Amino acid sequence: MTYAVTPVGFVRSCFKEKFAIPRQPQLAPAARGVLELVAPFDNGDAVQGLEHVSHVWLIFLFHQALETTPRLKVRPPRLGGNKTMGVFATRATHRPNGIGQSVVKLDRVEASRLYVSGIDLLDGTPVLDIKPYVPYADQVDDAVNAIASAAPQLIEVQWGDGALLQAREHGQRLAEPLVELIEQCLAQDPRPAYQVPAPERVYGAKLWDVDVRWHYPQAGVICVLTVTP
Ligand code: SAM
Repeated sequence: MTYAVTPVGFVRSCFKEKFAIPRQPQLAPAARGVLELVAPFDNGDAVQGLEHVSHVWLIFLFHQALETTPRLKVRPPRLGGNKTMGVFATRATHRPNGIGQSVVKLDRVEASRLYVSGIDLLDGTPVLDIKPYVPYADQVDDAVNAIASAAPQLIEVQWGDGALLQAREHGQRLAEPLVELIEQCLAQDPRPAYQVPAPERVYGAKLWDVDVRWHYPQAGVICVLTVTP
């Protein structure tokens, strides 16, 4: 049996590529985006009342990870990328129907736009549904997840000569907290856990319209090298 779904909107996100997007929402509060609603959801009726809500669930498609053959087992990066796990025991992107869910902060509501932050969504992500976060039902204080028991350990983020000034200038131009966004995302240590980075290896990711480059001068430390358009 197959059912068709139609996006209610698309996310314009600070994340222009998958690399360096946090593994879950809330980990980078400076990660902002705009959910552009499509007709008929864009005239204000469908979002009326959302101004009374601080967070929403976004149900979306991992549109850049869709597969025709569903995987039953996956290799979660946080387990080092070599340990397999049943797909339903993970929040992996490659999953049956490619459906993701993220609870994000709702910063502003307009008739056809929701301004959100603390997101973990790639630019262009199709959103299938929006639901208000209901704390008494959604927050389970005694919940346990022994696989993903805590947020990733943060590492130190240093700034190379000139890189911080570049980030400040582009942040001003973009009217975005770019310095905080870079620090919050890189502190999550985006490189694959199985990779031991040599200091000479340079990594990069696109945030908004700038290319951020960094390296690991020593284990557990990231140094931002450049922030350039
Ligand atoms: N919070 C969601 C969930 O639990 O379903 C997503 C968790 S998933 C591990 C988060 C990762 O999905 C991000 O780090 C990013 O690499 C990837 N991602 C985000 N948006 C995507 C998209 N539209 N297509 C494919 N991958 C995406």
